[in-house]
Amino acid sequence: MQAKSSPRFAIIGAGMSGILSAVRLKEEGLDFTVFEKAEKVGGTWRENTYPGIACDVPSHLYCYSFELNPDWSYAASPGAEIQAYFEGVANRYEVGDSMRFGDPVVRCEWTGEGWEIETGSGYKDQFDWVIAATGILHHPKYPDIEGLEDFEGTIFHSARWDHSVPLDGQRIGVIGTGSSGVQITGALAPRSGKFSLFQRTAQWVVPVEQIAYSEEQRAEFRSNPEALLELHKELDTTFHEGFGNAVLDGKSEFFDTIEATCTEHLENHVADPELREKLRPDYRAACKRLVISHDFFDSIQHPNAELVTEKIERIEASGIRTEDGRLHELDLIVLATGFHVDQFMRPMTIRGRDGILLDEVWKERPSAYLAVGVPGFPNFFMLNGPNSPVGNFSLIRTAEMQFDYMMKLVEAVRSGKLASAMPTQQAASRFEEERTEAAKNTVWASGCRSWYLDDRGIPAAWPFPFSRFCDEMTEPKLEDFEAA
Ligand code: NAP
Repeated sequence: MQAKSSPRFAIIGAGMSGILSAVRLKEEGLDFTVFEKAEKVGGTWRENTYPGIACDVPSHLYCYSFELNPDWSYAASPGAEIQAYFEGVANRYEVGDSMRFGDPVVRCEWTGEGWEIETGSGYKDQFDWVIAATGILHHPKYPDIEGLEDFEGTIFHSARWDHSVPLDGQRIGVIGTGSSGVQITGALAPRSGKFSLFQRTAQWVVPVEQIAYSEEQRAEFRSNPEALLELHKELDTTFHEGFGNAVLDGKSEFFDTIEATCTEHLENHVADPELREKLRPDYRAACKRLVISHDFFDSIQHPNAELVTEKIERIEASGIRTEDGRLHELDLIVLATGFHVDQFMRPMTIRGRDGILLDEVWKERPSAYLAVGVPGFPNFFMLNGPNSPVGNFSLIRTAEMQFDYMMKLVEAVRSGKLASAMPTQQAASRFEEERTEAAKNTVWASGCRSWYLDDRGIPAAWPFPFSRFCDEMTEPKLEDFEAA
């Protein structure tokens, strides 16, 4: 255990938030180790490599504020380019030497003075702080469909793509019409021999044109960093003050406008009235995560493609049997069925003060004081953890603000104002109560099934305005933490 003047940090995960933490701690001259279970950085962009993968958040917003990128090829850049961006940042800031790859953390235990971290290989080390940067969309969710193991073709989850499997001319079935399933449809419907998209719920599809940046535009961004910064700020303000605040009220006119735009797009782009009705959602736009796509309706009308809305009965050796008795014969089934979003750091064993287990504390559902800390777990800090903004604010901006907030707590501990940074039970319960109430008014609670909802059907994400998030993250309220 080191002196308080030189704390040691364990960062778990080398995705967007983990790289951010490493870069910032290095700038502060602090000692840290990043633990990454995989062989390289990148998180979700390393794990998701499905055909058609892109980020539908504008690229000039989807980057660190300290590392704007003049070279994005598109307004919504492909996944491989985003992966290269994160690898590039990790290399440029030379944080790789402090990263341990290919060895998952299996245990974090508070010793009374600090955290002992143990990995799968048996490696152990001691730290003063833990930063859990383990991500949300991380554990693939396999659907509860009978016969998954009976299929004799190839079957995998969208986040576990096997690139050795042939696609051209194949009979491909995709289950799920979230952002992943829709992007896969755009890429594969034209290449397949036959493409079947199994839809359980129709989506609101927002038609945003894909814009390619020309070499001249990129050169302009390179030579004019102020213009790049201006664009980043403009996108940030538009997103947070528009969409980010509108989600707080399910009745907001903002969503009337989105519904009108999507409906017009549907009416104008889908010729067959029967298909059009199958694609028409019957719930409030943005209740589920909006699907952004300029080509989904074209793709699903491709001569090879079919939208299947009959319920899946089971999977058989040669394909998918729907409830109307029809067997859809397939060579490949892709499960674009989403993620277990309530796992966070788990299945690690995380043991806090007095031997309490995080699994016990979270046995009903995960929650966190201001989305960053849990009573009983001193100096244990989460980035994009439970109740964090997700989908409503930029994940990267959120992580940056959460990191800055944590550094103020680190300072409070180093200066002796706090013995350790751990929210009181009272503060956590107060936040949880207020958060739960506010969540009930949001658009996510307007009546649909989605991964935003917890086991009670209450949205788990940050349900307050962006301004409140900024205020809360500006200065920790030390009275909400256990005193020195
Ligand atoms: P998802 O949004 O959770 O969608 C899962 C899909 O699978 C839904 O259509 C769901 O139907 C369907 N499904 C699940 N179980 C099923 C079953 N047993 N039978 C039939 N259908 C079933 O997952 P995702 O598409 O991977 O996206 C997850 C999140 O990742 C997104 O919301 C987004 O935040 C992020 N993402 C972002 C981008 C981007 O461009 N920024 C791209 C991809 C993903 P129901 O709708 O009926 O539940």
